[in-house]
Amino acid sequence: MKTPTKHSALQNLNFDNRFIEELPADPEGRNFRRQVLGACYSRVLPTPVSAPKTVAYSAEVAELLDLSTEFCESDEFTEIFAGNRQIEGMDPYASCYGGHQFGNWAGQLGDGRAINLGEVVNQKDERWALQLKGAGPTPYSRTADGLAVLRSSIREFLCSEAMFHLGVPTTRALSVIVTGESVIRDMFYNGNPKAEPGAVVCRVAPSFTRFGSFQILLARRDHDLLKKLVDYTIRTDFPHLGTPSTATYLTWFNEVCQRTANMIVHWQRVGFVHGVMNTDNMSILGLTIDYGPYGWLENYDPNWTPNTTDAQERRYRFGNQAQIAFWNLGQLANAIYPLIEQVEPLQKAMDTYTATFEQGWQNMMADKLGFKAFESETDDALCSELLMILQLVETDMTLFYRQLAKINCDTSISQSEHNTQAFQLLSAAYYVPEQVTPSYINRLNDWLENYRQRVQKDSTSNRDRRKHMDSVNPKYVLRNYLAQLAIDKAEEGDFSLVNELLEVLRYPYDEQPDKALFAEKRPDWARQRAGCSMLSCSS
Ligand code: AMP
Ligand code: MG
Repeated sequence: MKTPTKHSALQNLNFDNRFIEELPADPEGRNFRRQVLGACYSRVLPTPVSAPKTVAYSAEVAELLDLSTEFCESDEFTEIFAGNRQIEGMDPYASCYGGHQFGNWAGQLGDGRAINLGEVVNQKDERWALQLKGAGPTPYSRTADGLAVLRSSIREFLCSEAMFHLGVPTTRALSVIVTGESVIRDMFYNGNPKAEPGAVVCRVAPSFTRFGSFQILLARRDHDLLKKLVDYTIRTDFPHLGTPSTATYLTWFNEVCQRTANMIVHWQRVGFVHGVMNTDNMSILGLTIDYGPYGWLENYDPNWTPNTTDAQERRYRFGNQAQIAFWNLGQLANAIYPLIEQVEPLQKAMDTYTATFEQGWQNMMADKLGFKAFESETDDALCSELLMILQLVETDMTLFYRQLAKINCDTSISQSEHNTQAFQLLSAAYYVPEQVTPSYINRLNDWLENYRQRVQKDSTSNRDRRKHMDSVNPKYVLRNYLAQLAIDKAEEGDFSLVNELLEVLRYPYDEQPDKALFAEKRPDWARQRAGCSMLSCSS
């Protein structure tokens, strides 16, 4: 590690902590667990750690904050983003929010292990809030310790950056730092507590306001503060909407509905399962937030959830995410109702969610299949049959679409030749080739022929279609087993795989032939391994 230069790169960090300046603070300054009324946040300092070490940092996020490479590789950086040192302009606090967890109202939750350092306005005049996750207890820690373990911190760090490069709206991550301290976790809540390395992630987003930030104020019937927070959010996070008024509140809610729909479409496109879509984990900006027991679809299975805590009900399974987002928006509508006092326009906005999602889903499927536009007449049936076929034989979703893009759809070859070539390509995506039966082959062949005809209708060349498809169907995603391999190494002090994955995932749509290893389907050993296909909320 290099030592800090004389002219600290931190001179660039221009703090403008609007959230705490404009919204009421908890008057209690001591750090103990409590209900916090009449306030949006409580001031609290990160707990210092003994031996922080940077595991990885994101060059793109550093650039957003105008931080130099030299500074990111300095000890000063590690100290600051581990929570050991505050610099001028920082005014750390934890925010208050509530939420519905697994469908039930849970009351006050809040930043139980996240501490905001402040908001930076960069040279481009963009506002970025910085937040340390795992930096020690806050008034909102309830019965927990305020800490985070290395495995979940690496997962959050890598996935936020991977999602960004995939074009999915998300919070970002600047750094992941091991603290040098151990944290006790019972990974599957089954009486096997273990000491694990602790870590802190520095998350970055325009704001971390959640649906639950508004819900808690409704629950407490604090309509004055509810109005203050809504007005603040509109002025700060949605300035294009203009001066807050009843009409603005509705336009705002409408936009939240649209952004949320757009986010879910992206999740379905890349095969991402959030795993814990509680209303406290829903960003008001429509960003993917709070990476916990998330997972990536390997074999296409709409019923899959990585979260063992949700194994029974599967509330947050892949195929249910659009419905859950709708339900969550309904809770947000309830929360802001006192400011609007009209049901109908709120319901209309909810309809906008449904329409935006449906339209977005159709466009997304047309892109995935390489069509110029979605044509309901043919494409409804083509898509629903495809999604059935993908489940008949365990088929890797990511590989399938990349292979489909390579298929020759010219009519110059015979149907049987087309089918044979296509099957050869697609079989690379099968997990259990023995599942391929003659009736499956027939069904696949019929679909392939319909697909070829549909492609012909657009008169797109093979080359153009592949280019189109490869720009929306990633080759590289953060496969669950890859994250686990990087974690295994990092727990032994070797951070190279974390950094290599970070690098590969910067270009998820590129072929990167020398990195093809990272595009391979899940190996057999990972099928049942903890951390690869099964995760819990313990983190
Ligand atoms: P989650 O669903 O993981 O986002 O967390 C739900 C709530 O629990 C949030 O209020 C978190 O801040 C809090 N929480 C989760 N883990 C911890 C922890 N280790 N210490 C304190 N609070 C926590
Ligand atoms: Mg959360």
